[in-house]
Amino acid sequence: MKTLADLLAEGVAGRRVLVRADLNVPLDGSVITDDGRVRASLPTLRQLTEAGARVLVAAHLGRPKGEPDPKFSLAPVAARLGELLGAEVALAADVTGPSAKSTVDGLADGRVALLENVRFEARETSKDETERAAFAAELAALLGENGAFVSDGFGVVHRKQASVYDVARLLPHYAGGLVLAEVEVLRKLTTDTARPYVVVLGGSKVSDKLGVIANLLAKVDRLLIGGGMAYTFLKAQGHEVGDSLLQEDQLDTVRGFLKEAAERGVELVLPVDVATAERFPDFGAASQPAPVVVPVDGIPAGRMGLDIGPDTEALFAAKLADAQTVFWNGPMGVFEVAEYAGGTRAVAKALVDSSAFTVVGGGDSAAAVRLLGLPEDGFSHISTGGGASLEFLEGKELPGVSVLED
Ligand code: ADP
Ligand code: MG
Repeated sequence: MKTLADLLAEGVAGRRVLVRADLNVPLDGSVITDDGRVRASLPTLRQLTEAGARVLVAAHLGRPKGEPDPKFSLAPVAARLGELLGAEVALAADVTGPSAKSTVDGLADGRVALLENVRFEARETSKDETERAAFAAELAALLGENGAFVSDGFGVVHRKQASVYDVARLLPHYAGGLVLAEVEVLRKLTTDTARPYVVVLGGSKVSDKLGVIANLLAKVDRLLIGGGMAYTFLKAQGHEVGDSLLQEDQLDTVRGFLKEAAERGVELVLPVDVATAERFPDFGAASQPAPVVVPVDGIPAGRMGLDIGPDTEALFAAKLADAQTVFWNGPMGVFEVAEYAGGTRAVAKALVDSSAFTVVGGGDSAAAVRLLGLPEDGFSHISTGGGASLEFLEGKELPGVSVLED
């Protein structure tokens, strides 16, 4: 796999370099609520601009429906990127249209420009290879002669999409610093892992993450489950879960996990108490539904579990205390609201206090670490890619990484 260092050694002064970055930040209207991904993209961009490259960045934001939608414009990101780089970042009004072409024409050596949201173009995510390839060819054509592609959006390398995968097949391609660092860290989690190896899973994308569990059971010593996915496990064990997040259709699968964990001697640790509410919080509101902590065998009908309780915080911390390797994905509760952030803070703190090799993966988990004011350097690595890091740990091939290896 060629890397950014190889590209810099070849020389990039005056060359147009397309960088696929992950700038998919959380927004409140047009205000960026966590700019971690923008900041994470800076080292690669700076190395290129300092070497005199003309850097064109391709990125997505949210899930627009394959057509322009002002709600998902990268304008706030262009502004923030410009602030952080200390130089204005021009934003094209389209992806590969006339505005993109004139933006690229106006790009000086050592400067950065941003294309509008690549997902404003339906061909970006098309399942049809020919459509994707045609769009990728338009992206590549923006660079003219002697262009190069740097893949630096680790959060998207598990996707076979035009700006991630197809464009790499058309241009000389290099792994950016971020992708390289992520792959190196994750390899440490899959080979010669120091034990005990403990994985903590939470969050709300339950059905996405159940697949991961099947794979992890063969690899870990302990699996701690909190967040929204815990309730499907609790229900599978016979507890009533009230209005909590529940994947009814996955109960059999989850019973299978419980059985397999027991057979393999993997400790599967579930909450013993949870903080419940009468309704789901409204993040913007001044006051929130009051939490009532109950044991997991006492979740009343009409209430929902929104965080792990204090006994579970202590239990999870104890299960993390002697770990040598920890991977954590998914908040333990609705951390966006102070009333339900305690469990996530407790797990984050246990990782900060631990001397283990600790990796945090997942957009919301990484955002939670920052939002709750924990020191980012208290973790060995904070991954920018949730889905990508999980798929890597599962042992799946990441198309956006494999394509760089050819
Ligand atoms: P990540 O991005 O780290 O992979 P997810 O996207 O899967 O994590 O989940 C993050 C979301 O999960 C957060 O917005 C949080 O509010 C939500 N969440 C956590 N616990 C619960 C719960 N018990 N019920 C509903 N939502 C929850
Ligand atoms: Mg998420």
